[in-house]
Amino acid sequence: MGRLVIVSNRVPDPRERNKPAGGLAVGLADALRTEPRCLWFGWSGKQTDFVGDPEPSLDEHGTVTYATIPLTPQQHRGYYQNFSNGILWPLCHYRLGLMNYGRSDWHQYLEVNRMFARTLKPLLKPDDIIWVHDYHLFPLAQALRELGVTAPIGFFLHIPFPPWSLFRALPCADALLEDMQAYNLIGVQTEEDCQNLWECMRIENETDASKVVACPIGIDPVAFAEEARDSDNGLEVKRLRESLHNEPLIIGVDRLDYSKGLEERFLGYERLLTRYPEHHRHVTYLQVAPISRGEVEEYRQLRRQLDETVGRINGAFAACDWTPIRYLTRPVQRQVLAGFYRMADVGLVTPLRDGMNLVAKEYVAAQNPDDPGALVLSHLAGAAPELGEALLVNPHDADDIADALHQALTMSREERKRRWNALNLEIRNTTAGTWARDFLAMLHRSRREGTA
Ligand code: UDP
Repeated sequence: MGRLVIVSNRVPDPRERNKPAGGLAVGLADALRTEPRCLWFGWSGKQTDFVGDPEPSLDEHGTVTYATIPLTPQQHRGYYQNFSNGILWPLCHYRLGLMNYGRSDWHQYLEVNRMFARTLKPLLKPDDIIWVHDYHLFPLAQALRELGVTAPIGFFLHIPFPPWSLFRALPCADALLEDMQAYNLIGVQTEEDCQNLWECMRIENETDASKVVACPIGIDPVAFAEEARDSDNGLEVKRLRESLHNEPLIIGVDRLDYSKGLEERFLGYERLLTRYPEHHRHVTYLQVAPISRGEVEEYRQLRRQLDETVGRINGAFAACDWTPIRYLTRPVQRQVLAGFYRMADVGLVTPLRDGMNLVAKEYVAAQNPDDPGALVLSHLAGAAPELGEALLVNPHDADDIADALHQALTMSREERKRRWNALNLEIRNTTAGTWARDFLAMLHRSRREGTA
């Protein structure tokens, strides 16, 4: 049997456990535990001045071989910073106004995808099956096909996909969609994304509806619940607990990104303090927001804005022995986060758009079944269709967030248990393992049916 070959922009370093993990790395790492043999190919995160195709560095770790290549500063800027994160990211998160298109970045994006294909091809073996991940690599299958690769190639998009009315604002939309025809199977997080992408592809070309499937990603809920129980006695978890003096805790955990709705969330919390003064001096809101893409101007601006908003709210409401918002911009280890989630009475997850949002699922998994917390969740998160028993809110509406927070803070244990049982059932049904198994089974089927 051939290997599973995973290709993603960044390849996690198996030795660096403290790095802030994104949903993609977490989901795949959870899923890979059951794969017998695997090659994971992508960018090392390093830069080089060497121009020309790099030789991949190979690093074996258990059943996984990590193969990584560096990028030149020019490739990093054009392909990664400008096209992937400055054009595709805002566009796919419905933020057309933040998209900065430049044709030279599009050319660099295509060229890096071709370079990925050229350096990956010599590592491929007969019977390998290839699974490409995320928006950095939309054209990779086409680049591999042009080099003669006939293996089945699947693609999974971890972020949302907008409707054609938005996507067509991208000057190279047609070419991108055309290249995506080279995949045998494309997975997205939700039915809405599936409908949007299929319509875009259909407008460009005849596309079989079965080529695009909704296949929501999950976590490993059993392992995560265990981690949450175990970390209950950890040093940082104990310190947090002692500092709260048995008063309620609201927790938010997000990369510092404009798609996460942090400013709107802070305003929602401020509205809670204004409209429900009974929570003054009692509730604490801990927001973990590790800095991400700190070199990009939009992200620096967002950080300045959030610093100001948190400072303003704390300045207006704090007492000498109470700080309403505790705000951390450094990453916290996932294992420690598990203990924080378990302690928190409310999980506050209000992205303006999100592919899935694993934090919402982790919050559910970490709860104590006898006394679970309540989840306040944006109805625009990819996780919302599955997690209907959360308190669903519109993340643009500060009053809606304030009401849901008040409801969560005052909810009876009986109702919390009822809602949590339903949520927990959902996250146990759709896990990282079932996600990978279901997608790969469909990809294998496409080979057997001769579409590969
Ligand atoms: N995470 C972490 N440390 C942090 C912040 C986040 O380990 O300080 C993890 C978090 O537990 C989750 C992932 O990073 O597993 C974030 O995934 P999500 O899907 O919520 O968002 P993304 O960052 O992929 O947009």
